[in-house]
Amino acid sequence: MKLDSFVSGQWISPGRDSIEVRSAVTGDVVAHATSGGIDMRETLAHARNVGGKNLRRMTFHQRADMLKKLAQYLTERKDQLYKLSFQTGATRTDNLIDVDGGIGTLFVYASKGRRELPNSAFMLDGTVESLAKGGTFAGQHILTSLQGVALHINAFNFPCWGMLEKLAPALLAGVPVVTKPATVTSYVAHALARMIAESNILPEGAFQFIVGTTDDLFDHLTCQDVVSFTGSAATSEMLQRHPVIAREAVRFVAERDSLNAAILAPDAKPGTPEFDLFIKEVAKEMTVKAGQKCTAIRRALAPSAHVDTFIAALRERLAKVQVGNPELETVRMGPVVGLKQRRDVLSNVEKLKTEAQIVVGDPDNFQIEGADRARGAFLPPLLLHCADPKNAKGVHEIEAFGPVCTVMGYDGLDQAITLANRGGGSLVASVYTHDPRTASEMVFGIGTFHGRLVFIDRDCGKEQTGHGSPMPQMTHGGPGRAGGGEELGGVRSLGHYMQRTALQGSPAMLAGITGSWTRGAPVIEKDRHPFRYHFEDLGIGQTFLSKPRTVTLEDIEHFAHFTGDTFYAHMDEEATKGHPFFPGRVAHGYLLLSFAAGLFVDPDPGPVLANYGLDNLRFVKPIQPGEAIKVRLTAKEKSPRNKQYGEVRWDVEITTDKGETAATYELLTMNAVRPSA
Ligand code: NDP
Repeated sequence: MKLDSFVSGQWISPGRDSIEVRSAVTGDVVAHATSGGIDMRETLAHARNVGGKNLRRMTFHQRADMLKKLAQYLTERKDQLYKLSFQTGATRTDNLIDVDGGIGTLFVYASKGRRELPNSAFMLDGTVESLAKGGTFAGQHILTSLQGVALHINAFNFPCWGMLEKLAPALLAGVPVVTKPATVTSYVAHALARMIAESNILPEGAFQFIVGTTDDLFDHLTCQDVVSFTGSAATSEMLQRHPVIAREAVRFVAERDSLNAAILAPDAKPGTPEFDLFIKEVAKEMTVKAGQKCTAIRRALAPSAHVDTFIAALRERLAKVQVGNPELETVRMGPVVGLKQRRDVLSNVEKLKTEAQIVVGDPDNFQIEGADRARGAFLPPLLLHCADPKNAKGVHEIEAFGPVCTVMGYDGLDQAITLANRGGGSLVASVYTHDPRTASEMVFGIGTFHGRLVFIDRDCGKEQTGHGSPMPQMTHGGPGRAGGGEELGGVRSLGHYMQRTALQGSPAMLAGITGSWTRGAPVIEKDRHPFRYHFEDLGIGQTFLSKPRTVTLEDIEHFAHFTGDTFYAHMDEEATKGHPFFPGRVAHGYLLLSFAAGLFVDPDPGPVLANYGLDNLRFVKPIQPGEAIKVRLTAKEKSPRNKQYGEVRWDVEITTDKGETAATYELLTMNAVRPSA
């Protein structure tokens, strides 16, 4: 199989260099990756001028729908990816993480894009800030798509998930992607890239795929581009030092070496469910993907008194792990990705052995099922024990990227915290405790050194998603040695591909730009009530001003007895004496809301289909019997939903007849679109 690149809408392989890519299981050549010769300036220009423009014409909802379609398309073809992935050493379970995990990430971003983002091409960040006493000058932050390229450089261990978890937020943010897989597993990434290109679901220029070297690509990056890198700290550092990255302040998101810790808390003694969960999780993290996971547990910390019990329990569990040909159902762990990786792992184990000793596993003596030991890159799970972790260095710094973990004892939580943080910044740590106080102490002790903390106990033991599984909804990334970057994390990760700009101007100007009415912007009063307008015909700023209504004591008492809400502040004048908020008996907030609805509603059947909620409700001033209230209802924002209706967000203000604000909120309605003639 010859692996080519997909650039400027074509599959090409102009380079004369060809790299042999070998199976991790048999050592046979499975693909030839062509490399070099691609016009990188042209590739970036195609992404910017064609892909970026196409994506920026789409709204978040349209891009979300595109991701969903792509996820469905790939789901139908995922068996082909499984088949190829066996050659990388991945077992069936590993494939679920890589292939299904990647497709699942697309689905999550599609769903979040639909539910959490507006149906527009920009995002408002925060609310309008008043910047002048007179109300004629205000500010609003806005996020718009960068006009550049997302350059994704991926690691070998997750050829599918790695590509898709970066692709989803970038495309949803409206930024075209140039993706470069790690060569050693590029035949799987290539098959996935072929599917993406052949699906024709993404607009032209939104996706390009480069096999082999990146040549002079970095020379042509600008401030509108983002590099998102996963791999070794050495490569990351080297790329980050490229003069163009510094000169143009190109955003560089790095996810790299991480000495993740799992910490057995003092309360999780042998015999507790938490102790058993700890054993299970450490064994799982050592063996899934043959330990080649950026999030794998590299250091297992246990109270010194329990270290021997822990090692014995883990030995028993790891003895059941069958190593061998990953295609076999009985095999739990395949080889590492290749012979070079095997050598790297063993050389790192040798370095670790200067501070620790192997207590489980022997790289020269272990069973292999269904494969040739001499040709495949097989290793057994290797557990080391470091007796003096306080004075050790390498065990906290050397990432043996294979089925390798070092156990270390600690005395007291403070020491556990110190040891965990000796990783110098990690992607994740898991803590096994059933005590929220211990958990809280860990959060404040190790939180700033970690991108993610997982607390595993008996209550979540069955359903917890795992120490090593980054979830698309949660941040993935970590400080320091882990690269300092952040990926995933729901819609917050779109921020990596968007520019935040502070807009300042008059409320009318801000409303005109953002399409979101704000107080101080002009209100539009028409002959007919705003509820009489179909979705497309309703203008932002269209307003209804109600007549006043006096709130009486009888109203309050009737409401109290009718609803059962006889709270003293509404019923007992004596009890409100000296009250910090209430000058006497006051109307229920819910009574005011109900009266407001009665004041602004236009009751006859019409385009308003349903009221489906309130946002940002605040009761600002209590209303006493005898006071009059009135309401302003203003169309604030509109978001199309489907062919039948759209969502209207109304800004509502209840005031006294003297103009003092009593309550503010946003009302959400579904409004019918104009029936087609
Ligand atoms: P590398 O850092 O060598 O490679 C990562 C990616 O960078 C690959 O796509 C690689 O491409 C690319 N790359 C390498 N050099 C350049 C360059 N000069 N310009 C542009 N791109 C480049 O990591 P490996 O994948 O080989 O893994 C090596 C080690 O890194 C592992 O053993 C492990 O210790 C660590 N690692 C850590 C991970 C983590 O997240 N914690 C994840 C994966 C690896 P190519 O393959 O073509 O060289």
